[in-house]
Amino acid sequence: MSDIEDWKKIGIMGGTFNPIHIGHLLLGQWAMEEATLDGVVFIPTGNSYMKDRSAMLPGTERLAMTELAVADRACFRCLDLEVRRGGDTYTYETLEALHTMYPGAQLYFIVGADCLFSIENWYHPEKIFRRCTLLAASRSGMPLETLEKKQKELKDTYGAEIVLTAFPNVEISSTDIRSRRREGRSIQYLVPDSVREYIESNHYYENS
Ligand code: NAP
Repeated sequence: MSDIEDWKKIGIMGGTFNPIHIGHLLLGQWAMEEATLDGVVFIPTGNSYMKDRSAMLPGTERLAMTELAVADRACFRCLDLEVRRGGDTYTYETLEALHTMYPGAQLYFIVGADCLFSIENWYHPEKIFRRCTLLAASRSGMPLETLEKKQKELKDTYGAEIVLTAFPNVEISSTDIRSRRREGRSIQYLVPDSVREYIESNHYYENS
């Protein structure tokens, strides 16, 4: 199994992962193929300050589920740096840390394309664009011209490198998985079996 230190092109899947699901894993797989990455690191957030945190499991629990989800895939790894860092999670800090840890590697931050319209509100977008290429997965629903216009605008303002590619709609969301748990419905096939067993044995999301 190769070490991340040997990877020249590293994909980064950041997320709240409350919980991680098959859509996240498929997006990681899609990104690997699209950008010929050596592997993808999945990084659960510490404190997602822009999200509703009322139903959010602690970082250590979201990290444990993410570790289980990627355990059987050598080119997928889970990193604990945001959970360990504590405090609000800022992507630019994570990218700076990864640049220090893996100085020779090119970094590709993987996101849903909707993110192009909110990333300027994130902390220090200019530092984010300096450190990585954004791999933006466009799902059907948003016209390609709208995305290309935004891509150009971000290039002109920040010198942003953004790769836009089509990603099939996978109608799975963490919100839906949590509601299913509340309603006593199955989450089989929506999350890896190891994650489902972990959620069920810990009675997660039953009353959230
Ligand atoms: P999330 O909801 O856990 O999702 C992670 C990623 O997977 C998102 O890009 C999401 O795109 C995508 N995704 C989820 N379900 C999908 C599906 N079924 N098919 C395809 N794609 C799917 O993550 P998040 O909380 O939005 O955070 C994403 C990253 O942005 C994290 O690393 C977070 O730290 C970072 N962030 C940083 C700042 C900052 O630095 N200030 C602010 C906000 C977020 P969609 O959201 O489009 O579904």
